[in-house]
Amino acid sequence: MTSCDHYDLAVVGGGPAGLAGAAEAASAGLAVALLDAGPRLGGQFYRHWPGREHPRLLRLRDALPRGVDVLTEHRVWSAERRPGGFAVHCLAGGRDERPAEIGARALLIATGAHDLVLPFPGWDLPGVMTAGGAQALLKGGLVLAGSRVAVAGTGPFLLPVAISLAEAGARVVGVFEAGRPLAAAGALLRGPGRLAEAAAYGMGLARHRIPYRTGHAVVAAHGDARVDRVTVARVDAAWRPVPGGPAAVECDALAVGYGFLPQLDLALQLGCRIVPGPAAYVDAGRRTSVPGVYAAGETTGVGGAVLAEAEGRIAGRAAAADLGRRVPPAPGLSRRADRLAAFARALRDAYPVRDGWRSWLTDDTLICRCEEVSHARVREALALGATDARSVKLLARPGMGWCQGRMCGYAVACLAGEDPASAVPRRPVAQPIRLRDLAEGPGAAPRGPSDQISDPPRKGTDPL
Ligand SMILES: Cc1cc2nc3c(=O)[nH]c(=O)nc-3n(C[C@H](O)[C@H](O)[C@H](O)COP(=O)(O)OP(=O)(O)OC[C@H]3O[C@@H](n4cnc5c(N)ncnc54)[C@H](O)[C@@H]3O)c2cc1C
Repeated sequence: MTSCDHYDLAVVGGGPAGLAGAAEAASAGLAVALLDAGPRLGGQFYRHWPGREHPRLLRLRDALPRGVDVLTEHRVWSAERRPGGFAVHCLAGGRDERPAEIGARALLIATGAHDLVLPFPGWDLPGVMTAGGAQALLKGGLVLAGSRVAVAGTGPFLLPVAISLAEAGARVVGVFEAGRPLAAAGALLRGPGRLAEAAAYGMGLARHRIPYRTGHAVVAAHGDARVDRVTVARVDAAWRPVPGGPAAVECDALAVGYGFLPQLDLALQLGCRIVPGPAAYVDAGRRTSVPGVYAAGETTGVGGAVLAEAEGRIAGRAAAADLGRRVPPAPGLSRRADRLAAFARALRDAYPVRDGWRSWLTDDTLICRCEEVSHARVREALALGATDARSVKLLARPGMGWCQGRMCGYAVACLAGEDPASAVPRRPVAQPIRLRDLAEGPGAAPRGPSDQISDPPRKGTDPL
């Protein structure tokens, strides 16, 4: 161990939620450590190339009081309760990382989300990547996913991905939206400023001559050394291909995403209650079901950077108040967060993932890319009596590789007949860790998660 500092509050995640939470808590007088796995603060949305920071990130960073210890390149692999608070176990220092332990009286989990992907034939080819991955390459290193890119999946996130790829010089051959998101129009009317944002995306698509096809899905990718073509099919309301002929579309990259899934590993390790979504349960002050543990941003439900920031502020203020600091009122903050959360819910409901994607699979489609587990092997496990994702994993190994089921977990849960909104994968370690570091780590293995799913949180207003 290299360090065991003790803070009032440890914030895990330096995206908008964590940054805002750390700033509020420190402004109220708490000693705060802000940890992030990445080399720079900002999280997924404010990921940036140095010198090209988003103005909102600069404002958030400038608002961090001097008292906040910013610990970048700290990958938190576990958190556990200790007398008087929590121990946060991390691997610190980038390439030469070493184990470190941070102690804190309270913990704010703001670890964001990762892409939700679905398997289809050829999705393991080089050049096929998640929509978030394509965006992260562009924002983080100004690297283009390809020169002729297809963008596919569902959700409004496909639009900024397509437009930023085109602005950076790629030819975007089409955005293939599997849903028919009429309900999104209703949601847009409820979201302040969102109609203007939607219009800007529409103009961006038109300016770059990017075709936008709803009710169309990429059902297969083809190529030898890398993807050179995708099959685009018209799909029905359940996402099953309909007669009328699939089309081949040439491309050298495919960015595909079906939304996001919250990173719940630390919340699960600590025994926090999880609600359908899945998401961490929080009350109006963003307190989880475990005293002293707060959660904000995408860990409590996917809703965008502005909502994440508002939730982070509420959580930081609640932590300070609970630790006995005087917190001045912030009129309207909770109401604003509630309004944004209602809009996010309406938008999520407008872009559901439908069951018909299973009809895209062939016997040899890989479901788990890390362990190369095919659809046929998953079916064999089900035929042998597996009834949930966990038993399929034990029999056929999907989810046992490097990503620990982040890529295939959703699909395996669906194939095993589980409700993916309530299926929470068990990951006793939140980040890959060497056995040597594990042996030097906390004496006892982290506690297993409580997989209990209960009612969704009621988003009320908080006295804060
Ligand atoms: C790949 C990806 C790309 C996205 N790109 C966009 C975009 O371009 N536009 C857009 O509107 N929205 C985008 N989103 C959605 C976006 O994430 C949110 O709207 C917003 O950033 C959420 O803020 P947050 O603070 O909750 O989480 P994030 O911004 O995701 O921040 C979470 C932070 O926690 C850190 N972290 C996670 N786990 C650990 C750990 N175990 N130890 C230490 N640190 C950890 C991560 O490094 C990250 O910096 C993207 C999401 C993803 C997953």
